[in-house]
Amino acid sequence: MATERTLSIVKPDGVQNGHIGHVISHFESNGIGIRAMKMVRLTQAQAEGFYAEHKGRGFFGELIEFMTSGPVVLLMLEGDDVIAKNRVLMGATDPAQADAGTLRKLYAESKGRNTVHGSDSPASAARELHYFFSECFEIV
Ligand code: ADP
Ligand code: MG
Repeated sequence: MATERTLSIVKPDGVQNGHIGHVISHFESNGIGIRAMKMVRLTQAQAEGFYAEHKGRGFFGELIEFMTSGPVVLLMLEGDDVIAKNRVLMGATDPAQADAGTLRKLYAESKGRNTVHGSDSPASAARELHYFFSECFEIV
């Protein structure tokens, strides 16, 4: 198994509902390291660029409005097989479909307000980490 890095985001609902610590603790207790972290409020342009693959989908406007509605916490995760492992720990996009014990089953309110983002492949992990953490690549 290879050591990998991936991007996680505690979305605005997770921050507003007081789950930053729970999410980080969930990662750490599952053997995942936090290698970089920052709390920001995304601009409209940042959110649209980040979610460019979804442009044109019916939920795009709602997604951008939500992701810019309050601060988010950006996390660079590191660990063995962490890209796939994070997707398992997150649970399905719709919390109603998410497995018991996953972050979205524990904390998410709806398909839109679903507490966490996670990169879905090595290519998206690389793109998404560079999108938010390019300045950290020299130091981590
Ligand atoms: P995931 O975050 O599980 O990778 P997607 O990449 O398909 O899911 O979608 C990105 C985000 O867009 C979701 O996490 C969710 O916040 C939002 N989203 C996706 N589908 C819908 C939908 N049908 N209605 C509202 N929001 C949605
Ligand atoms: Mg996705």
